[in-house]
This record gives sequence, C-alpha cells and structure tokens, in this order.
Amino acid sequence: MKTLLEKQRRYFSTNETKSFAFRKEQLIKLRKAMTDYEEALKAALYEDLHKSSFEAYATEIGFTLHSISKAIKQLKKWMKPKKEKTPIFMFGTKSYVISEPYGQVLIIGPYNYPAQLVLEPLVGAIASGNTVIIKPSEYATATEKVLVEMITKTFDPSYIAVVTGDYKVTSELLDLRFDYIFFTGSTRVGQIVYEKASKHLTPVTLELGGKSPTIIDETADLGKAASSVAFGKFLNAGQTCIAPDYIYVHESIHDKFHELLVLEINKRFNDREQFGTIIHDGHFERLSNLIDPSKVTYGHETNKDDKFISPTILDHVTWDDKVMQEEIFGPILPILTYTNLDELIDIIKQKEKPLALYVFSRNRNNINKVLTELSFGGGAVNDTIMHVSNGHIPFGGVGQSGLGAYHGKHSFETFSHQKSIVDKKLHLTLAYPPYSKGREKLVKKILK
Ligand code: NAD
Repeated sequence: MKTLLEKQRRYFSTNETKSFAFRKEQLIKLRKAMTDYEEALKAALYEDLHKSSFEAYATEIGFTLHSISKAIKQLKKWMKPKKEKTPIFMFGTKSYVISEPYGQVLIIGPYNYPAQLVLEPLVGAIASGNTVIIKPSEYATATEKVLVEMITKTFDPSYIAVVTGDYKVTSELLDLRFDYIFFTGSTRVGQIVYEKASKHLTPVTLELGGKSPTIIDETADLGKAASSVAFGKFLNAGQTCIAPDYIYVHESIHDKFHELLVLEINKRFNDREQFGTIIHDGHFERLSNLIDPSKVTYGHETNKDDKFISPTILDHVTWDDKVMQEEIFGPILPILTYTNLDELIDIIKQKEKPLALYVFSRNRNNINKVLTELSFGGGAVNDTIMHVSNGHIPFGGVGQSGLGAYHGKHSFETFSHQKSIVDKKLHLTLAYPPYSKGREKLVKKILK
C-alpha cells in the first residue's frame, strides 16, 4: 500500500492529472466502464444485498452515471479561477481563487450502497484532478470483486487503484499520509478515521449515520406520508443511511396513519423477489434482537438462511425500547406518538444531530418551526430521502452524523483546495515602513 501510494504521489507530481482534458477523458472512461459493467454490477448487488435490478440501477449505477454526465458538462466552469472583489486599500490588485487538487485521496466505503458510495465520490475526486485509492466495504464481497476488475481494467494503479481487505487493511491505509480522506460509514468508525487523519492533519469528509426522525403532524396528508415513509424506510431493506429511523406521529392521527402504512407496505413490498436482504449474519442477529415481539403490529417474518427480515412495524415504542438505543439500519420501523410539537422538538434536540429529518405537514408554521429549531444534515418536507438525489444541493451530516458534504459541484469543491491569490499590478507601499503620523491617520480612515 505504501509503494502504491508512493507511485501515485510520483504520478501526481508529473501534473498530468491537473489539465481539463485529462480530467474529462477520465470521467468519460469511468462512464464507459460503468456502462460496460452494468450487468456485472447488478448481478453483484443482487448477490450481496438481493437488490432488484431497478434499485441497483436507480440508486447505484444510474445515480452515478448521472453525476458523471453532469460533471463532464460543468467541469470547465468549475475549474475556472473564481474572480473575487478586492478592497480599496489594495487598489491595483486582482483577486481570485484557484481550485487545486489536494493530491492523493483515500475513499473508504460502506456496504449498503457498495458501488455508488465509492464511485460517486470518485467522480468528484477525478473532476478535481486527484489520484485515488478506493477501499470498498469488505462485506459486499461480490461488488468489491467487480469494482476491482472494473477499476483495474480502466485506470493505471498509479492514478486510481482499489485496495481490498478487512478493517485491519483500512486501518493500515489510514496510517499512511494521504492529502484527503473521504469516509462513508458508521459514526464509531468515523471517529477512528478522524483520529488517524489528525496525525497527519489530513482533511476529511465524514459521511456518517445516526437515528433520523420523521415527524407526521395532525395536518399531514396521511396517504402520501405513509407511501413516502414506506418507500424511504424499506428501500434496500432499510439499509439506507438516510432512511427514516423512527416515526413520531401526532396522537390524534396515529390509528389512521398505521392503517395506511400497512396498506402501503402490502401494496409495494409484498414481492420478496424485489426485497433486499441483510448483508451478513452479524447484522441479521443484531436486527433480530432489536425486535420486541410484544410491540410488533405488522410483519416480523424472518428467514435466517436468507438473511431476510420482512418490513416490520413496532408500535407504541418509547425511548426505553432496545430499538431506540442505536441506529436501526434495517427494515424495522418504530412508531412513537406525541401531542405537543414544542415538547417533541425538545426531545429530539436532546439527541445527537441526525443525518436526515423528515416532516409531513400542511401547516407552514409547524414546518418552519421544525426546520429552524432542529439541526440535522439535510432532509425533506412531505417526502423522504429524495434530497440525496438532487446534485445541486450539498449532501452531508452535522455533528455526530458527519462532517463536510458532496454531490455535484460540492464534490468538486470537497476534493479541491481553494487557493486564494492576490495578483498585484500596481505597486502601492502604503503599509510599508517607515510610518508617519499622517500615514496612520490615513490608514485609520481607510480601515473604518
Ligand atoms: P462501517 O463503519 O462498519 O464500515 C465502513 C468502512 O470502514 C468499511 O470499509 C470498513 O472496512 C471500515 N472499517 C470498519 N472498522 C474499521 C476500523 N476499526 N478501522 C478502520 N476502518 C474500519 O459501516 P458499514 O456498516 O459498512 O455501513 C453502515 C453505516 O454507514 C451506517 O451507520 C450508515 O448510516 C452509514 N452510512 C452513511 C452514509 C452517508 O452518506 N452519510 C451512507 C451509507 C452508510
């Protein structure tokens, strides 16, 4: 790994990765590779997570291809030095900001969207002119294998390479001196990454997780809320970082919402062939232990051999329940109730800042209250998870749910250092000694 990184460092110092033409060509190569490997990736995602062909395309392959096309179109504009204003006392000077690549980037991915969550940041890292080492999740083994083949066939390892192995390998990689680390995974491992990065003062993006709440108030369109919640929660069998982790429904509409939610699940998620499975036995056990059978009002069909858990609703849950002690990350949906929005906001405020939050309401005051009083990475009003699909807005967490953001132009900015330049045309020496009283008076006037 050390030799590989050294090779990348040497290659980067040739400056080849920096030109517009090179970056564009590599993005085109990545697009072609992903198109060529579309079927292989789909098959691997099915093997690892039982992802349907539609899900594999919409949330992983197509998702990234769309970003590549956008990046190719916008790259020239993104790369242009940005002109900025200059204060009057620097008269005769031009100011601008150059986006320069950091250098050697490390991308570490999780298992749940094992292709997209390393390839999407890769788009940004390429667009910004870096070299990259990718460390995919060791748990999505079939996808890892396809990624190795696809990347090795497409890029020279001194430019982009994939390193595989378990957490010890990731740990060894983190001991090396990279110029930027992009990590997606759990908050626990995020802390390890941050600590290791601090040894070299390496900047990081940490895309982490947590318990993302959904609030459904008494004015909400319950049919739409039920279908959005079911979609966001049970996509990829609940193994989505921004899935609604738990729902708070206003007590007055609880029964109606529950009824509609069951109808939605029956309508959309009763085809087992289209429904995801849990990544490995350890997580299957963990999730099974989170289910309190006395609270189950729907679902709870399981098959250990297939690592299958059907969409499961736990009702009348409280913060004392096991399921509320950790991020669920599976197809289990706890429902809690509230009567007073201010009190609910106080409860959520006491928890860690979530990665996502969703509010369903027709009352603008309620919506604004939630959006202004609670801090969270990002979210949606009258929808779930779709903020991740808009490349124009940054995607990331806050506090324990993450640090930094990416997608679209924000990916380019994430992987670029902003180098500020003042470019002097006129040699003014007002600030240079020797200083007279008159000069000080003048400076006082200017700096007011
Ligand atoms: P994880 O943190 O267990 O693993 C992620 C990566 O970290 C893997 O590549 C693994 O090799 C590495 N790793 C694990 N232990 C390590 C250690 N001790 N030292 C160094 N590296 C180590 O995460 P996961 O279980 O694969 O993914 C699920 C988590 O990721 C959830 O918490 C979820 O919310 C989060 N997630 C966040 C986003 C986001 O965009 N914010 C997206 C997907 C998943």
